[in-house]
Amino acid sequence: MKPAPFRYHAPETLEEALDILAEDPWEAKILAGGQSLIPAMNFRLAQPTILVDLNRLAELAYVEATDDGGLRIGAMTRQAVVERDALVAERAPLLRETMPHIAHPQIRNRGTFGGSIAHADPAGELPTVALVLDATLCARSRDGGERTIAVGDFFFGLLTTALEPGEVLTEVILPAPTPRTGWAFDEMARRHGDYALVGVAAAVTLAGDGRCTDARIGLLSVGEGPVLAEAAAGALIGEELSEALVIEAAELAAEADIDPPADLHASAEFRRHLVRVLVRRVVHRAGDRALAGASG
Ligand code: FAD
Repeated sequence: MKPAPFRYHAPETLEEALDILAEDPWEAKILAGGQSLIPAMNFRLAQPTILVDLNRLAELAYVEATDDGGLRIGAMTRQAVVERDALVAERAPLLRETMPHIAHPQIRNRGTFGGSIAHADPAGELPTVALVLDATLCARSRDGGERTIAVGDFFFGLLTTALEPGEVLTEVILPAPTPRTGWAFDEMARRHGDYALVGVAAAVTLAGDGRCTDARIGLLSVGEGPVLAEAAAGALIGEELSEALVIEAAELAAEADIDPPADLHASAEFRRHLVRVLVRRVVHRAGDRALAGASG
């Protein structure tokens, strides 16, 4: 199918883009990499009458170090750039480990970091990783100016975020890694590059005596948006990561933290099974990396 008719704008600056969006914020859609929006328009699942293409906005494509050891990633940075960036590998190794799981190289060459987060697909890897890394999202609109949104307040549900009509996600800020934190990501998909049936990202911080002082476990494809497995993480905090404890946490993630959907691809029970297996695997790997004092 072909998309419904629309007016196309390709502004050269963010200010210009914000002005166009503000003219009719409910009808306008932002075009980033187009890897989700264009198929949706071709199927007429999305029918914006105005398309504002951000691809000329070099000002939104960057990876920068922050003075406190964190990172700023511009929304229009291509996924493939994030995947290969040395600063990302050093300061956000969880992100580095996750990137190759997103779709295929051709899609990552076009798809953007910010587009993936703004799209808020429950099967998307980046919303869940942003949650685990406790990201801050920066947004701009002509009338509302600039604001920051904590990631915990950003995802509202299926393909829905705190972004208002006319608002552009401009930047994602990732805090500095806490010392003795280990990270890991894994997912199960029918074929490499397919959307995951279930994915798990974790960050685990250990004290010098081996006790867990902080844990964040994020799940994808198990609900209407990215899910933080709070019961599972709570079970780990204050304890040593014994095999029995990690099994208990994985059980809590599968039974208490989620109410997974059943669809063509997997039953709810199969998704719970995958959560059990992947949480065990990922928490072990993150814990081992934290013990090794490595940040990867
Ligand atoms: P677009 O498609 O351009 O936009 C998506 C939505 O976000 C639109 O509503 C748009 O208006 C909005 N938007 C984009 N940028 C902004 C912004 N800066 N501010 C406000 N709103 C904005 N993704 C995965 O996560 N995992 C996968 O396994 C995966 N597999 C894929 C397989 C295939 C075959 C294809 C075609 C896509 C797949 N994707 C997957 C999607 C891909 O990662 C997309 O690139 C991503 O979801 C959207 O990024 P984009 O830059 O292409 O955004």
